[in-house]
Amino acid sequence: MSGPALLEVSGLTKTFPVKTGLLQRAKGELQAVTDVSFGLDRGRTLGVVGESGSGKSTLAKCIVRLYPPTSGRIGFRGADIARMGEGMLRARVREHIQMIFQDPYSSLNPRHTLYSIVEEPLRVHRRLPAEERGYLVDAVLERVGLDPVLRTRRPHEFSGGQRQRIAIARALVLNPDLVIADEPVSALDVSIQAQILTLMQDLQEELGLAYIFISHDLSVVRAIADTVIVLYLGRVMEVAPADRLFACYAHPYTQALLSAVPMVRTDEEERPPRIILAGDQPDAANPPAGCVFHTRCPYARNRCRNEVPSVRQIADQTEGHRIACHFPLSG
Ligand code: SF4
Repeated sequence: MSGPALLEVSGLTKTFPVKTGLLQRAKGELQAVTDVSFGLDRGRTLGVVGESGSGKSTLAKCIVRLYPPTSGRIGFRGADIARMGEGMLRARVREHIQMIFQDPYSSLNPRHTLYSIVEEPLRVHRRLPAEERGYLVDAVLERVGLDPVLRTRRPHEFSGGQRQRIAIARALVLNPDLVIADEPVSALDVSIQAQILTLMQDLQEELGLAYIFISHDLSVVRAIADTVIVLYLGRVMEVAPADRLFACYAHPYTQALLSAVPMVRTDEEERPPRIILAGDQPDAANPPAGCVFHTRCPYARNRCRNEVPSVRQIADQTEGHRIACHFPLSG
């Protein structure tokens, strides 16, 4: 694709103060996301994977500007939105980036009807006559597979899959460019997951949407992502086109994640040796020196304990395959 990417994130870092005691004095800082960079074109999907605490959701909340980034650039539709004030964000950005959460039941107001939930973004962002809002709401409900005659029902009257369809309808009613989906199918049964993923793919094709799809579930990411970023303690460990990542992973952490879910691999792909990661994820407020993964990496050597590996292109020059490891498994 020519021209600038829809989203270009560069050097994004987010720290939070760590406070202690009754007076809540700052005793340090937690680096939730450190120096993350990637680009995303219209109509494409970026999968973000990692264990809980890897910084996936913080990254999403920075991009949607629920959190102000500490440093770095977030280029969206040609403008740096990292330091935009709220007024400018509302005028130029908010309606173009929408978010879908894991648990639609807690993200949908239980007292509101289906109609008012999906209509709300239109009331906030667009000055339209009620009749036109009604037309847009009905159209998007139909598009996500919900019958507009259900418009007076409340969230508890719908199934889990239908509630996620409501969340998707609310995200799409403003016709955004980018949808950030944070574990959108994790709370659903496998058969319902497949329906929601298919719906999201159909909508992407039809509307040219870009997705950032956050998940701990590699089989789900494999089904939907074009490119995958693997995060650990807020740092990028590996980035690659999805097919490439699942066939030719090069980072020991990616290998460990893949080895834990062998069903995500095809028959032709060699199953990675089962890697049981030792210990727990370190405290993000006190990350290990050198490679942050060295305390759990089965291949760690002395250099790993002292020297931070930079994120670099893998040696065989496969486009877009980058890793942060001194001793990659391949390439
Ligand atoms: Fe493991 Fe060393 Fe690579 Fe880190 S740099 S992933 S510790 S081999």
